Amino acid sequence: MNKKTTVYKFGGASVKDAKAVKNVKSIIEKAPTPLLVVVSAMGKTTNALEKVNEQYFNHSDYNDALQTVKDYHLNIARELFEPHHPVFDKLHNLFVELEWELEEPPTKSFDFHYDQIVSFGELFSTTIITEYLQKNGLPAKLLDARDVIKTDFSYRHAKINWALTQEYAAKHPLSAIHITQGFIGVNDENYSTTLGREGSDFSAAIFAYIYDANEVTIWKDVPGMLNADPKIFPDAEPLNQISYKEAVELAYYGASVIHPKTIKPLKEKNIQLKVKSFIDTNKTGTLINRQSDKDAEKPSFIVKKNQWLLSLSTKDFSFIIEENIADIFSLISQMQVKVNLMENTALSFSICVDDDFYKIPELIERLKEKYNLLYNKNVELITVRHYTNEALQKVTEGKEILLEQKSRNTARFVLK
Ligand code: ASP
Ligand code: MG
Repeated sequence: MNKKTTVYKFGGASVKDAKAVKNVKSIIEKAPTPLLVVVSAMGKTTNALEKVNEQYFNHSDYNDALQTVKDYHLNIARELFEPHHPVFDKLHNLFVELEWELEEPPTKSFDFHYDQIVSFGELFSTTIITEYLQKNGLPAKLLDARDVIKTDFSYRHAKINWALTQEYAAKHPLSAIHITQGFIGVNDENYSTTLGREGSDFSAAIFAYIYDANEVTIWKDVPGMLNADPKIFPDAEPLNQISYKEAVELAYYGASVIHPKTIKPLKEKNIQLKVKSFIDTNKTGTLINRQSDKDAEKPSFIVKKNQWLLSLSTKDFSFIIEENIADIFSLISQMQVKVNLMENTALSFSICVDDDFYKIPELIERLKEKYNLLYNKNVELITVRHYTNEALQKVTEGKEILLEQKSRNTARFVLK
């Protein structure tokens, strides 16, 4: 039987400079083959290209922003390659292609141009990495993700055409080591599309699914998925093993370690996911698979800061019933406001929403037309999965609890 493919995913931080690229090489050298490596744009390149697109679209001067992106990649390449290495021609060709995109004034939507421009970040990174692996004697080939990942026309949040993608995967069989781009795809008219910010994890899962991979490893700058954000809880600990379901729950409540769409394709084919540190490669990291008996081993803490808590009641002291709720939600969904928690009692309906400078004040105005409304801004929403009394004590200590919700596995608090 053929050996099954392993998929590795490296994010922007793991390829942010020459030293980081060397580290990626040392990880790939030790990997099993066949290996498919999905790579994001280097460092903060996506943000930088977003800026180029904005300026281009607004007819302002984008040259400085563009030059910064070019210099950044050239400097990394200069540290990795001797002066006349072919990588420089390849990068140069990509720069020229990008300049073509920018030559004519914009004629289509912002999102269309965004995808044509921002997708270059992943093309630069994978070009440099493939060349660097080859230079070091590794049998690496570049696979253009757009030869395989076929999408619809929803620029900036393109949907995968799974049947077509599967078909193209069959036309591009994998051998020893392939390097490909995360985040990008192509539509029927051969225009580049992107899958949404931080979408490379999802790309890795798509590739794993269509190539029937054995496992996926996402390499991060943290030692796996942690049970809390270490910036907020310095004693955060790694989760050694959790189920697909638990990973989706954690992502839903706001744990930001892996992209929420990543799990579904993996779960469907029972492909295990590892989240490991590219800095401390000896650490085991987190294993995500079907097994759920360890999910409750320790509590997980997810904090969302900068929330608004809105509490509505009817003006005539009548009950909050289906009709009102439908009415409130249609407004919320029209305005594309993200609801993180809701609760209703006979006379009131409360929601906790993400701050948005424009949307929330407008939402409040519109709701006030029909309802009495009280609100608290700048509150915190804390979710504790698999809580213990001690854990709840720890998060609520010294704070005012505005709202509290508990189910068997999950406790949530809105705190001031
Ligand atoms: N480069 C893209 C981004 O920064 C995709 C990714 O990193 O996953 O959003
Ligand atoms: Mg990134």
